Amino acid sequence: MPADLTGPAAHTSTLPAVHAISTGTLRVHRAFERARGRGLLRFAWALLDRHYSEELPIHAWVIDHPDGPILVDAGELATTSPPPVARFCVRREHEIDVQLAAIGLQPSDLRGVVLTHLHGDHITGVARLAGTPVLASVEALRRGGARALARRNCVAEPLSLLAQPFGAFTRSLRLTDDGRVVAVPVPGHARGQIAIVVVDGDRHIMLGADSAFTQQQLLELHPDGVSFSARTAIRSMRTILEHARLHATVFLPSHDPHSAARLAAREALVTARRTELAWC
Ligand SMILES: [Zn+2]
Repeated sequence: MPADLTGPAAHTSTLPAVHAISTGTLRVHRAFERARGRGLLRFAWALLDRHYSEELPIHAWVIDHPDGPILVDAGELATTSPPPVARFCVRREHEIDVQLAAIGLQPSDLRGVVLTHLHGDHITGVARLAGTPVLASVEALRRGGARALARRNCVAEPLSLLAQPFGAFTRSLRLTDDGRVVAVPVPGHARGQIAIVVVDGDRHIMLGADSAFTQQQLLELHPDGVSFSARTAIRSMRTILEHARLHATVFLPSHDPHSAARLAAREALVTARRTELAWC
């Protein structure tokens, strides 16, 4: 299996450059979505908060590349029991194979699946993609991620970012020969988390994973309640904002209810709107 998705062309489709899929929705504790308190208190609030966020999509993305479609994340399954901090609304018709079929794709059409990080709502759908090459960052796989995938009968190929600057990022990895699909590091919410940038004409479409739950949260530099390090999460947010200052960037977090609309409008992030608020 290749360590990236470069190589001979296998398929050409007619989808837009990036296609949004939602494999159902979830609600999470409000203090999970937006940090409340600092230090250990932040984790305690995330776990014990009794209030829930609004309904949030569980996005996966299809990149329509001339060498074949690439799936970013695989979403949830209807049979999954949610963790104590979340409620899921996922039915069989939301699952990734059904969603792919709705846009004319079979799992066998995919050139590969890239997992941004190895939390259940991003990886569980790999069970519906048997035989498709799966890539995940080497850091994420080291931290118990390989075991999480193995429980789903999935073995991922490790993806190592290189010391190749890309915009504001000091490390990156081209996933395709033409350099139009690039992985960049956005650790914080999870160790080894990556975002995928699609160079689409005058826009960079950034599939931002869970680097922020929403674009507004990014602009406020407000971390979530479960990042292993709030400081690391904020550093990644600052890098994303700096990247958006250098290149017109459409920022699409996995769970932002407005991501699909921004993608359709190719609406670039306006960093001047940033309002830095102290989180408490
Ligand atoms: Zn996550």
